[in-house]
Amino acid sequence: MKVYAIPLRTRFRGITVREGVLLHGPAGWGEFCPFADYSDAESVPWLRAALEATEAGWPAPVRDRVEVNTTVPVVGPEQAYELVRASGCRTAKVKVADPRVSVADDCARVEAVRAALGPDGAVRIDANTAWDVDTAVRAITDLDKAAGGLEYAEQPCPSIEELAAVRRRVGVRIAADESIRRAEDPLKVAVAGAADIAVLKVSPLGGVRRALEVAEACGLPCVVSSAVETSVGLAAGLALAGALPSLEFACGLGTISLLQGDVSANPLSPVDGYLPVPREAPEPVDAFPAPPEVAAAWEERLARVRALA
Ligand SMILES: [Mg+2]
Repeated sequence: MKVYAIPLRTRFRGITVREGVLLHGPAGWGEFCPFADYSDAESVPWLRAALEATEAGWPAPVRDRVEVNTTVPVVGPEQAYELVRASGCRTAKVKVADPRVSVADDCARVEAVRAALGPDGAVRIDANTAWDVDTAVRAITDLDKAAGGLEYAEQPCPSIEELAAVRRRVGVRIAADESIRRAEDPLKVAVAGAADIAVLKVSPLGGVRRALEVAEACGLPCVVSSAVETSVGLAAGLALAGALPSLEFACGLGTISLLQGDVSANPLSPVDGYLPVPREAPEPVDAFPAPPEVAAAWEERLARVRALA
């Protein structure tokens, strides 16, 4: 077992250091890294996902590589243009609705991203639950124009009911991300007519197999996203993306660059917008070991969650 602590390049979900535990078993390495706001009970699926990787391994993939998107943070249009050009990706996810900037600023950034991608690229936006229904309808309409067509808008509002209301009023597809935190959520989203696309993450859903069942049950096209794991956890996300029967959209798995480093000597960094589908997680080296008190806290947390699993 290894406990890591890796600084983030920029603040994410209010954290500046990503921490977690790497577990080893007969099938390889797995990662257990629920965010601090997950209770022990909510962390059980995260442990199941890690134990699937260490004890069972993953189902056989149906593709050997996965297209990924680049993510554009809240920066000026020139910087957004440069980031997208440098990424090599054909799909860009633009973070919008930050309280520090206006919709006009978001439109300018989205326009610059379209210019960088060209007409064949795909521009999606992610509002991370920031808007109410009316604001979302206005903003999505404006941003769709600025982008010359959005691929989809991710989680414009907090609740499933609001997502459904927005979806009825705009011509842009809606994706549910934060609304999907437990295995039963994608079905609820689908039944409510709240989204056209489900964003799936392996860890909160309890593993690759469980996520495949969830994808089938909800019947929506799926985008696989990371929980900002190291390359060990990203490998599980790629295993899911690799095993989904159909994969229509680029996945949010190109996130290793959000961390200042990795536990693997060969990080899963996209090349020309693609990542390979690995058959097992990469072997971690002794990089970014957590300080002793952090490691002790994670060992205790792991023991508490194991007792519930
Ligand atoms: Mg999102």
